[in-house]
Parts: sequence; C-alpha cells; structure tokens
Amino acid sequence: MTTPTTAATPAEDFEGQYVGTLVDRWDELINWDRRRASEQDFFVALLNGAEAHRVLDVAAGTGYHSVALAQQGFDVTAADGSAQMIEQTRRNATAHGQSFRVLQADWRSLRHHLDGRYDAIVCLGSSFPHLFQEADRRAVLSEFYEALNPGGVLIVDHRNFDAIRRHRYQSSGNYYYCGTGATVTVAHIDAQLCRFQYDFPDGGQHHLEVYPILSTELSTLLLDAGFDTVQTFGDFQDHFDIDGVDFVIHVARKS
Ligand code: SAM
Repeated sequence: MTTPTTAATPAEDFEGQYVGTLVDRWDELINWDRRRASEQDFFVALLNGAEAHRVLDVAAGTGYHSVALAQQGFDVTAADGSAQMIEQTRRNATAHGQSFRVLQADWRSLRHHLDGRYDAIVCLGSSFPHLFQEADRRAVLSEFYEALNPGGVLIVDHRNFDAIRRHRYQSSGNYYYCGTGATVTVAHIDAQLCRFQYDFPDGGQHHLEVYPILSTELSTLLLDAGFDTVQTFGDFQDHFDIDGVDFVIHVARKS
C-alpha cells in the first residue's frame, strides 16, 4: 500500500542523491546473485541478438551490469555521473577479476567523454527517471542515439510508474532490487515527482527522488529521438499486464 504525502520538495540532482551510505549499501539493495538469477541472461540474449560487441553502460552504478557483460565477453565501457558510484564500479570490477574502461560522465555531456561509437548502450536500474526536465530527457536520448553505431541498440528501463501513479505500487522483490533486507516504499507520488523510501534493517533510511515517467511517454521520446523501432517488455516478458509488473524495459533500434 502506498502512502502518498502532500509535501513535494523540489527534487535534487542525481549527484546529490548518490552519496555516502546509500552508495555503500547499493549492493546490499540489489543482491548481485539473486538479480542475475532473475534476469536469466535477458540482456545478454538481446545484445547477442543485436550482434553487439562494444557496449556502453551509461548508468553503471556499482558496476553490476558492466561486470556481468564483461564476464560474457562484451567489450564494456562503464560510465556514471556519480564519482562515488564509479569508485565502487572499479572496486567491484577488480573483485570480480574484470578489467574495462570506467569513466565519470554525465549523460548530458556524454559526447565529450566518449572515444568512438558503440554497438549498444544500456541505461538500467530505473536510472533514466533521474531526468526531471523534458528538455533533458530529449537531449540525453539524442546523446545516446549519436553515440550508437548504425544498427545499434539502446536498452533503457524504469520502474512501472504507470502503476505507481495509479497508487498501485508493487515490488515483488524478484527483479533488479533483489536484496531481502531493505524495504522500498513510495513516500510521495504525483505526476512530476516520485520519492522512494529505503528502510534498512539497522534503521538506516534513504530517499531517492525521480521523475515518474510513463511507459508510452518514454517510447514516444525514443521514436522522436530518431530510433526506428521500440520494443517494450515487462519484467523481461514481451507479453505483460502493465498493472502486474515491477519494471518496464524498452529496446530501441537505430537503423
Ligand atoms: N544501473 C545501476 C543498477 O541497476 O544497479 C545503478 C542504478 S541507480 C538507480 C542510477 C544511476 O544513474 C546512479 O548511479 C546515478 O549516478 C546514475 N545517473 C543518474 N543520472 C545521471 C546522469 N545525468 N548522468 C550520469 N549518470 C547518472
């Protein structure tokens, strides 16, 4: 059951949100082993199907997908705008015996950080909703489009805000954020702001504020950005009930 509140303060930029103990606790929140089991190589299969080799993970976070894709033989570049997340990606790559390029880059100025184009870009873990302004969302999708080779693919996902905005938040705990300790609730929701509350077993509490993007809103923006086709999945299934899934995943192809 969600508990909408009335007070919505202006949302912070992502950099101010990914600091301190939330970064330290991110791996506890996602649980790498359970997350990998739930994905069942969904992203690997998509990337192989697109014949992708050079992959840019633009929201690396603590490096979960970058490490997993590097282990599968992809030529990975991990990027994130948060200095602390990037440091954690480096530590996790080393801990898993992987070596790949890691860079701090804000999506809004991506082109200044990249060395050539990519066959695929992944923006996962409901990261894209950190963009609050429509102009930013459009500009960033153009950055992603430009950074792709012809024939390239962009995979971008988000929590199911269609359901959340109808006060039907559910989190089965089976996808993405698979840690069993923390509880994630919606502390505030309206058409412009969603504030998640993370409660950890030791009493620690964090909030993350994002823009609650709708599924069709993002697929329309992807087509507007120049992508030819957009395929949408719910919890890794192509046939799904929008009220019954935790996450929505869009796969956009550039001709
Ligand atoms: N992909 C990881 C995962 O699934 O565990 C991390 C997801 S976390 C919800 C969102 C990440 O997006 C954070 O690491 C944050 O720093 C990054 N991010 C948000 N806005 C960004 C921006 N404008 N440029 C670069 N990174 C950004």
